[in-house]
Amino acid sequence: MVNRGTLLAGRNHALSPENARPVVVHLKAEFVKSVNDPGQFPTDGLPEVAFLGRSNVGKSSLINALAGQRKLAFTSNTPGRTQSLNFYRIDDKFYFVDLPGYGYARAPRDSVDEWARLIEQYLRARSPEHSNNPGTAFIVIDARRGWMEKDLELKMWLEANRWPYMVVASKMDKLNQAEQQRGLKAMRQYAEPLPFSAVTGRGVREIWQAITKTQQT
Ligand code: GDP
Repeated sequence: MVNRGTLLAGRNHALSPENARPVVVHLKAEFVKSVNDPGQFPTDGLPEVAFLGRSNVGKSSLINALAGQRKLAFTSNTPGRTQSLNFYRIDDKFYFVDLPGYGYARAPRDSVDEWARLIEQYLRARSPEHSNNPGTAFIVIDARRGWMEKDLELKMWLEANRWPYMVVASKMDKLNQAEQQRGLKAMRQYAEPLPFSAVTGRGVREIWQAITKTQQT
């Protein structure tokens, strides 16, 4: 199914990302497939932008906000429910790849290992070493919590495999001004974060600019 999307812009006083009001209509965004096996990764060579982060960090809401749609990516209050890689084609120019969230403590050990394996298989397949068309990653971090051990492990893994990545500080609307400053400062210890809120639309423009820039170099 193809949907014409809208970009979130400006401040909005809705309480949740699902209720946030999109304003500008521009993008075409379509769900392509949900993948559990590396053999099913797309082969048409469109650039891929991968979204990684702990479960419940706001990854789906970020994808929806960037695509300008409320329900493109599945959002939920139940951490750990997305267990496969979901591919969305955006404006016929990119794939957005929603990777399974990591670090959900209550998941059974076996399924945790399986998710990790799939994530790693994907990241290897699209690393500069193994692909002519390597991907770009966003590590999404909850601004209230900052970097956690799993995020740092992922960051080191990406660096070791020469994956270009950027960092998004999500759910900024949940912090007051002082907390925002403190949170961003703490996060800068490891990388400069792009502040984002799916509720207010803060950061959508800047994150899009960052994505576009990666395609020009
Ligand atoms: P994912 O598991 O990383 O894909 O996270 P989701 O996008 O499903 O979001 C998890 C929960 O956090 C949902 O209840 C969302 O409504 C909420 N959420 C996500 N982003 C934001 C945000 O920017 N601000 C606020 N206030 N809530 C958010």
